[in-house]
Amino acid sequence: MQYHVDGELVPASEATVNVRDRGFMYGDGAFETMRVYGGTIFEWSAHADRLQRSCEQLGFADALPPAADLHARIQETLAANDLTEAYTKLSITRGVQPGKLSPDPDVDPTIVVYISELPRGGTDGERVWSGPAALATVDSRQTPDSVLPADAKTHNYLDSILARLELRGSEADEAIVRSVDGALTEGASSNLFFVDDGTVHTPADSLPLLPGITRNVVLELADAAGIETVTGVYEPDRLVDADEVFVTNSTWEIRPVTSVDGRAYEVGPVTRTLQQRFDDRVEKLYD
Ligand code: PLP
Repeated sequence: MQYHVDGELVPASEATVNVRDRGFMYGDGAFETMRVYGGTIFEWSAHADRLQRSCEQLGFADALPPAADLHARIQETLAANDLTEAYTKLSITRGVQPGKLSPDPDVDPTIVVYISELPRGGTDGERVWSGPAALATVDSRQTPDSVLPADAKTHNYLDSILARLELRGSEADEAIVRSVDGALTEGASSNLFFVDDGTVHTPADSLPLLPGITRNVVLELADAAGIETVTGVYEPDRLVDADEVFVTNSTWEIRPVTSVDGRAYEVGPVTRTLQQRFDDRVEKLYD
């Protein structure tokens, strides 16, 4: 494999960052995880916009190269590895700086494109997950927005990692995380949806959560399918009477949930309709 590091394609074994890189030392960086279908980066503009917003929150957006340049780096990495179906991660950090914690205004960012093969999605594609998700509500809470901006996708993933650690030894493979006030927010690496009486609900982005690119696509697809969508502030017990539950992210796409804290759920018609619409949208990239 070859990865893209600071403008150069390098063999994976030589793809390294400086031990003084602030992304490594402090989590002082932002990233995007994306799917590539048929050589096209799915929802590139939305990912590029979110990366821009994340870098703005971290105060080094000026150092971010234009989106077309970043896009070209990913395309070069795909071509170098002869891949059209892939998972790719684009990271940008504040790089190496003189001094210690205080960020220097002069930023020479470290920019890395990591890539790996991932079979195509779409109508004839394979799911990346081997089965529906089992969720468990964890005790660790989402970092409040007043502490760290939840809508920035930064290298600081400790709250999600702590949430996943709580799943150890259980059957669950995704955590349900709550705000400090106890409202449902999201999964450790996914957005949470439930269906009640035919209406699709998901926690509102006024809560501390990462507004996923897939979440947005799902809300659009539901609108187009005439399925009512509501974003709100929900207590965990709203899930008890839900008819269907699913989680979304760029890698999983729409992943049905068949268990929440040991309660069983069916993979229902609304989830299936949205999966079909999502697959159709992916399929269009191959036309
Ligand atoms: N929420 C969190 C905490 C995530 O880490 C992710 C993705 O990794 C998501 C939501 C879903 O985001 P997206 O659909 O953009 O992949």
